[in-house]
Amino acid sequence: MSKNTFAIGGVHPHDNKIARDCRIEVLPPAPSMFLSVAQHIGAPSVPVVAVGDKVKVGQVIAEPGGFVSAYIHSSVSGTVKSIGPRADLAGRPVTHIEIAVEGDEWLETIDTTDTLITEIPADNKAIIEKIRQGGVVGLGGATFPTHVKLSPPPGSKCERVIINGCECEPYLTSDFRVLLEKGEQVVVGAAILRQVMGNVPVTIAIEENKPEAIAHIREVIAKLGFEGIEVMNMKMRYPQGSEKQLIDAVMHRQVGSGGLPISVGAVVQNVGTALAVYDAVQKNKPIVDNIVTITGECFPKQANLCVRVGTPISYIIDSLGGMPADAAKVISGGPMMGKAIANLDAATLKGTSAVLFLTEKQTRRAPESACIRCGKCADACPMGLEPFLLQKLSRIADTEALEANAAQDCIECGCCLYSCPAHIPLLDIIRTGKGLAMGAIRARAAAAKAAAEAAKM
Ligand code: SF4
Ligand code: SF4
Repeated sequence: MSKNTFAIGGVHPHDNKIARDCRIEVLPPAPSMFLSVAQHIGAPSVPVVAVGDKVKVGQVIAEPGGFVSAYIHSSVSGTVKSIGPRADLAGRPVTHIEIAVEGDEWLETIDTTDTLITEIPADNKAIIEKIRQGGVVGLGGATFPTHVKLSPPPGSKCERVIINGCECEPYLTSDFRVLLEKGEQVVVGAAILRQVMGNVPVTIAIEENKPEAIAHIREVIAKLGFEGIEVMNMKMRYPQGSEKQLIDAVMHRQVGSGGLPISVGAVVQNVGTALAVYDAVQKNKPIVDNIVTITGECFPKQANLCVRVGTPISYIIDSLGGMPADAAKVISGGPMMGKAIANLDAATLKGTSAVLFLTEKQTRRAPESACIRCGKCADACPMGLEPFLLQKLSRIADTEALEANAAQDCIECGCCLYSCPAHIPLLDIIRTGKGLAMGAIRARAAAAKAAAEAAKM
């Protein structure tokens, strides 16, 4: 058994990867597709098409709205039908570009063949620009624009690239299938990232419940002959795929409160992002589709689907046999960190990794009782926080104390909630407290910036 894991906290939920043997299948686009302009961390993108415009697959339909932002490309060919607010997965109104699908015409510049291209262009600046032009964002959940991550601030230096293939959340299998079925492209993507970051070592971290993926990627690395890329088999432990925990597990370095991975010499990219980097750099293909696990014991068909970005969830459900009568909750992502889908007509995003269906029994929570001060939540917290204290402070909205006790460092992993014998909804409560602490930090930063600008005048 591997000993490679992070130092503190964590839990070991049953992995329930019931879709692991389902090969990737391609889902045809829906008749109407809806592309959100807010598919990444940072400023929303700005539409550059108008109603009535004809578009092809891969055509830019929205440009970055700031430095930390990303291009959005049409995932289908057809006519722009509307541009306006539409409810997203959480039910919030967000600008979407609706496209009525006509045929499947791709931009001529995109290489749609299966030919593997292993020769990497020499110009790193041009590579980063291709990644930016391809709208590549982190597909491990954070959706941070990748070109920004690959341009470390002055004074910081990357010492290792970590490719996150842990997929430690129960039920999720899309990264596993990508490693098995698109392993060559992932390894070339890893080699591109290694070159861009200055030929530093690359570690592809895969948990040991995926032995086929570990063996396959090792074979691919040997076959393609890339140097400086290793596979590390990791102990199964949640939330190993979380950035700070993975850096600790692989490099034994801790990212401080509010710090970035680059502050300890790490750049972390997800398996899906490595594939997207390959596509953007070697095939001129922007992110127009991604692999989504459709799963849950109550769902009639388990699947790992290649889904065009902007596909309504309801269309996916109908395509696979319809909504099960006993499904009580639908989640975007996994059961630990995923978010409930409030609107089934909402469209998938670049970062949508899974749609999970749970029954009423699976979602039922036992009645909450009083804290018995057992400390299990603190033992489970991978950030070294005291969840029992944070929930108390959150309930009384003590912003100052929340910040002093690092509520802002909570990564919302749910390990505390999972461990609590009193069934206290710790994560739900602490999330509110984290919002208060973050709000105070942001307000102070804005005030300091305004004061500095005023002093310059
Ligand atoms: S949800 Fe937050 S407080 Fe709870 S275990 Fe995770 S990091 Fe710690
Ligand atoms: S795990 Fe639950 S009962 Fe135990 S100390 Fe934490 S909040 Fe209290």
